[in-house]
Amino acid sequence: MSRVFLGVGSNEGERLERISSAIRALAATPQIRVVQMAMIIETEAVGGPPQPAYLNTVLEMDTSLEPMELLNALQRIEQRLGRLPSTQRWGPRPIDLDLLLYEDRVMQLPTLCVPHPRMQERRFVLEPLTQLAPDVVHPVL
Ligand code: AMP
Repeated sequence: MSRVFLGVGSNEGERLERISSAIRALAATPQIRVVQMAMIIETEAVGGPPQPAYLNTVLEMDTSLEPMELLNALQRIEQRLGRLPSTQRWGPRPIDLDLLLYEDRVMQLPTLCVPHPRMQERRFVLEPLTQLAPDVVHPVL
């Protein structure tokens, strides 16, 4: 099993309900065990057009899925919860699932960068992450 951290956000519709549904869908995936969740925080949207505030949190999970398999599972859940594939970059979104860290792996594929390239700039990632795992070290920075 691999230890992973996931960024979870929503700023469209019933935000809390969407986050709960995403966590239920993750927990119902046989190859995933949800270990713990940080406090949910409300944050202003960064960049993009004017848009509603986000609810954000971070999840710790164990998984037997490889990184690309996990990304595919995350994208299926995003789509089931109403995320359109064409959602504009930086635009509002019913649910956003970002793979932040996968053990201490470093990957640069066209569709998957790990660690998540902007995680170190985002207080709404760093605060919940350190709450869950003060021991975690960014494998590059
Ligand atoms: P976003 O709109 O921020 O959710 O970005 C979605 C796109 O980012 C998808 O097409 C993914 O292929 C790509 N992506 C690259 N690295 C990651 C990552 N670590 N976690 C989630 N999506 C990623």
